[in-house]
Amino acid sequence: MMEQYNYTAAERFMRYVQIDTQSDPLSNTHPTTEKQKELSKLLAGELKQIGIEDAHMDEWGYVYATISSNSNKQIPIICFCSHVDTAPDTSGAGVKPILHKNYLGEDIVLPDDENIVLRKSDFSYLDKLTGHDLITASGTTLLGADDKAGVAIIVDAANYLVQHPEIKHGTIKILFTPDEEVGKGTDKVDIKKLGADFAYTLDGGERGSLEDETFSADAVQINIHGVITHPGYGKGKLVNALKIAGEILAQLPKSELSPETTDGKEGFIHPTRVEGIAEKCMIDFLIRDFVTNGLTTKEALLKNIVELVVKKYPGASFDFKVTEQYRNMKEVLDQYSQVVQYAKEAINRSGLDVVMESIRGGTDGSRLSFMGLPCPNLFTGMHAIHSKKEFISVQDMNKAVETIVHLVRIWEEKSNSGSTTSIP
Ligand SMILES: [Zn+2]
Repeated sequence: MMEQYNYTAAERFMRYVQIDTQSDPLSNTHPTTEKQKELSKLLAGELKQIGIEDAHMDEWGYVYATISSNSNKQIPIICFCSHVDTAPDTSGAGVKPILHKNYLGEDIVLPDDENIVLRKSDFSYLDKLTGHDLITASGTTLLGADDKAGVAIIVDAANYLVQHPEIKHGTIKILFTPDEEVGKGTDKVDIKKLGADFAYTLDGGERGSLEDETFSADAVQINIHGVITHPGYGKGKLVNALKIAGEILAQLPKSELSPETTDGKEGFIHPTRVEGIAEKCMIDFLIRDFVTNGLTTKEALLKNIVELVVKKYPGASFDFKVTEQYRNMKEVLDQYSQVVQYAKEAINRSGLDVVMESIRGGTDGSRLSFMGLPCPNLFTGMHAIHSKKEFISVQDMNKAVETIVHLVRIWEEKSNSGSTTSIP
């Protein structure tokens, strides 16, 4: 049945990427850039056209839509979510998507800048794409597969489900968010209005990949207070906060516990900003780990370094403030193991092997999970994100559409008729 479907994810995708939706980390408005609403509005209209009557964009640029259940069973309400904005790192204005049919492993030189070349030696994943149709940008912008691929996949899956009422499913919610790339993707989301029990973001990479783990994250701010006098008469009195800050930074672990020296499941302590004058100085840190008590250990280590340094300077003092940023979604997902289990099964039914990944960062999904909406991340096929070399395979995108269709079926199959199964 799936084989006869004329997939339209790539066609949709190539239209969406031409709309500039770059978000802005320095903006205080919601959404951070008004232009994101252009795509959101278009998406609400397209979902309506498909036949989803309640599709709409709200004042913050979020798109909500509902595909009604066509089953008699009591089935948990499942939401599919992706973000419309693109990263501030690379321009997203004037994107010219290029379709490279039947990729045979050659280097791809992008036409608008011959220095931008996609090479197999840089991207080993290209080895797995022989015979696929690839989409790239033209060399001067990012492509925006992150996350317009997710958006196109969800719209195409919605279209497929509406066209194929013989496929039984429960109520399905669709959510498109702005500002994910600047960490504000869930700021204005209305969880109650959405009314879903579980969700999946489509914001992952390699086909078959499934992410159920993210970092846990805290921010630490240290304020160092020195003692200020006229420098000409500072002997024995002046204590320079800048020098204390320098000493603290010099004592941070270098060969371990830093982003430069860790990967996989290791966490780190990462200074991101120093601001100050001789009298007082502030240092900002990111603390990351996969387990919450790993954060506590790193914060204790950092505090100990600060204490030992400051102690050497009579009259100096400091304060140390920890702010929670987000938590590993696994803490929530482990309580609802079927959410990940069914996703694995859907990936398998699409003919793919499951590739379990952990994200060394956060996602909308980690925030949603702790807002009461357990939410792992599914693949879209996107690669080299946030860069001019971003690429995606049309066939991988179609596999993601197929995975969504299998997934809603599985939720229906596994639900008992007439009984409530939303919370085990
Ligand atoms: Zn993304």
